Amino acid sequence: MRAVQLVEPTVVRLVDIPVPEIGPDDVLLRVAAAGVCHSDLHVMHNPDRIFARPVTLGHEVTGSVADVGSGVRGWAVGDSAIVHLCWSCGQCRNCLAGADNVCLRGGRRAQPPAPGLGPDGGMAEYMRVPARFLVGIDGLDPVVSAPLADAAMTAYHAIRNSGHALAPGNTAVVIGVGGLGHCALQILRATTATRIIAVDVDAGKLADAVNHGAHETVSAASDTVAAILDLTDGIGAQAVFDFVGNDATLRTAAAGVAPNGVVQVAGLAGGRVPIAAAPRDGVGWPWGASLRMSYGGTRTDLVACVALARDGHLRVDCERFALADALEAFDRLEAGGVRGRAVLVP
Ligand code: NAD
Ligand code: ZN
Ligand code: ZN
Repeated sequence: MRAVQLVEPTVVRLVDIPVPEIGPDDVLLRVAAAGVCHSDLHVMHNPDRIFARPVTLGHEVTGSVADVGSGVRGWAVGDSAIVHLCWSCGQCRNCLAGADNVCLRGGRRAQPPAPGLGPDGGMAEYMRVPARFLVGIDGLDPVVSAPLADAAMTAYHAIRNSGHALAPGNTAVVIGVGGLGHCALQILRATTATRIIAVDVDAGKLADAVNHGAHETVSAASDTVAAILDLTDGIGAQAVFDFVGNDATLRTAAAGVAPNGVVQVAGLAGGRVPIAAAPRDGVGWPWGASLRMSYGGTRTDLVACVALARDGHLRVDCERFALADALEAFDRLEAGGVRGRAVLVP
C-alpha cells in the first residue's frame, strides 16, 4: 500500500509498504481520509523529533473496518469509524477518571501515544487500530469527518474545560481560526451563549470566521490587545483560546484576559507566557485568571464532536487532496493557504 512517512528527521516521502498486520485486539481500517494538522508540520520541522523507525503520519483518521482481530467484539467488516487520538493505557488514575487525554503512563510531561506520532498513523491506504480506540460514525460522510478526531476534539476539550468563563453574555476570544480555530468557533456557538471574537493574521480566515460563528473579528496585525479591551469595556475576555501559541499570541492572551478568566493554550508554536507575580507588573495578568495547557481530548469529547457533527452544529471546511499530493497539502498549510482543514484521500 502507499503511505506518507516521516522517513528521517525533516524528510517526508510517499512510500510503498506492506499492509499492516493486525493482532487479536486490533482492527484493520481501510482509510477514508486523514486530516493534515499543523502539528504534522511541527514534527516534520523538528530535527530532534527522531522516531526509532520511519513513521506513517496522520493522526486524524476515519475509515471502514476491513478486518477484525480474533478477540474483537462489536465491530464488523464495513463499519464506519473514527480513530481516537489518545492511545492511553486505560488503567492509570487519570484514565480511570475519564481524563484519558492526560494518561499518566508515559510520565509527567508525556502525552499518550498518538497514531502518526509514534505508532503508524492514517496517511496510508490501511491502518492498524486497537479496537478500543475506535468510535462509530455511521451516517456521517467519513471524508469530512476525519478532522473531528483532532481539530474539533481538541477545540471541544478546551471549551468544555473553561467552566464558568463561558457563562452566557461573557466574551470568548479565539486566536488562530485555522483548522482548530474554525471548529472552536462553531463549538462555542453551539454550546455557549458567549460573544465570540476571532483573531487571525489572515484576512481571508477572518472573513470565513464570521460564517463559522464569530461575532467580531480582529486582525492580529493591529493592536490586538487594544481591540479586545475596546470590545469588552476595558475588562478583557473571560476565555481566551490560543490556537497558535507563539510569543505574540500568548502576550495577547495574557494581556486580554479578564479577572477570573481563563487562557487555554493549545497552539504549540513554542512561545512563552508573560506572567508577573503582581497584576500591575508585566502585561498585567489580572486577579483570578488562570492558564491551562490543553492537550487533545478524551474519548468522550470525541463522541461529543461526532454528535455535534451529526446534528449539523459542526461542519469542518475540508480541502481534499489525493494521498499522492500530500507534500503539496503540507506546503499549502505551511503557507497559510488552506481554508479549514486539508484532508488526504487515499
Ligand atoms: P492551522 O495552520 O490550520 O491554523 C493556524 C491559524 O493561526 C491560521 O489561520 C493562521 O493564519 C493563524 N495564525 C498564525 N499566526 C498567527 C498569529 N501570530 N496571530 C494570529 N493568528 C495567527 O493550524 P492548526 O492545525 O489549527 O493547529 C494550530 C496549533 O495547534 C498548532 O500549533 C498545532 O500544532 C496545535 N495543535 C495542538 C493540539 C493540542 O492537543 N494541544 C492539537 C492539535 C494541534
Ligand atoms: Zn493534530
Ligand atoms: Zn492511563
